[in-house]
Amino acid sequence: MANKKNFYETLGVDKNASDDEIKSAYRRMAKKYHPDINKEEGAAEKFKEVNEAYEVLSDKTKRSNYDQYGDPNGGFFGGNGGNGGNGGFSGFSQGDFGGFNFDDIFSMFGGGFGKTSRTSSAVRGEDIQVQVNLSFKEAALGCKKDINVTKVESCSDCKGTGAKGGTEYTTCTACGGSGIATYTETTLFGRMVRQGVCKECSGTGKKIKTKCASCNGAGSKKVNKVVSIDIPAGIDNHQVITVRNGGNAGSRGGSNGDLHIIVNVKNHKLLEREGYDLKIKIFVPFYLLLKGGSIDVPLVDGCTTLKIPELTQSNTVFKIKGKGLKHLNRSVYGDLIVTLVGESPKSMSKEDKKVLDNLIKSMEDNTFARYKSYLKDMESLD
Ligand SMILES: [Zn+2]
Ligand SMILES: [Zn+2]
Repeated sequence: MANKKNFYETLGVDKNASDDEIKSAYRRMAKKYHPDINKEEGAAEKFKEVNEAYEVLSDKTKRSNYDQYGDPNGGFFGGNGGNGGNGGFSGFSQGDFGGFNFDDIFSMFGGGFGKTSRTSSAVRGEDIQVQVNLSFKEAALGCKKDINVTKVESCSDCKGTGAKGGTEYTTCTACGGSGIATYTETTLFGRMVRQGVCKECSGTGKKIKTKCASCNGAGSKKVNKVVSIDIPAGIDNHQVITVRNGGNAGSRGGSNGDLHIIVNVKNHKLLEREGYDLKIKIFVPFYLLLKGGSIDVPLVDGCTTLKIPELTQSNTVFKIKGKGLKHLNRSVYGDLIVTLVGESPKSMSKEDKKVLDNLIKSMEDNTFARYKSYLKDMESLD
């Protein structure tokens, strides 16, 4: 009776899967086969298998034992029983029972069912994702946002038990309180004894005498909540704020899922974000570059004045230190980077042209060093 189960196959992951991959595969499979969700025949069995696989593959030592010896305890069922987390009895598919009767197997494992069932029936709540829309300014400066979240919460009237007043239980008679029931099935190979999460009590070992009216016995209910979130200054588009335990309530002692808030930031009309720097390209009349002057440049909040020195080249980049965005969780600021480009007029009057001609004549002796060098190169081209 070798335990031939392939834990990697059970979770549908590669042998080299990372811890994160295993975790997310486990969540996906546990959800798929959870007895509360999946009422199909064999789902509870599969659910237990998934939990068993995860118990092993999420534990460094057990995983390495399993990889090496094919057994999480490093030998033939060695250490079973003393090792509470593993608990042992969940690794058999139907076929493995051929030739054994259930009592044999039960006694082999010292009857440690109760513990196993509690451990593996605890289900962590699902994570929830919500989106929040922020203006450019809200993201840059940080803000408080009220976010509507629909989530499953543990019922406060019955403290999540599903029983009226939170106390009215009897022990489940189908499984005697162990949460694991045995089922006899007639299959192609004859009568098979199979064990799985008790269908009567979904593995809790308890039966509710009177259902809690508020949640109709579910122990949890969907509620609409307004969650107030502090958005940190400097957050960027598509970044995610995670509120640990802010997701759906777990069941049977499982922890809550997380709440993930995905941030959507609206573009600024003029400013462009690059890391924590702000960039802007401004077209200014060509004479402002020649003559010099000043121009107002927008900031996240308000604006600042940029002095333009006389005889500024087109495409000159000005860096205004510390006027960019605040770094996330640090009191450091990026820069504001301004590029000035000279704009020529679209039309000129006769009068304008005359003035310009005079200007050109009077400037003839002035040097346009780069232009002159260009002309020289053009002449000496092969
Ligand atoms: Zn039961
Ligand atoms: Zn309730």
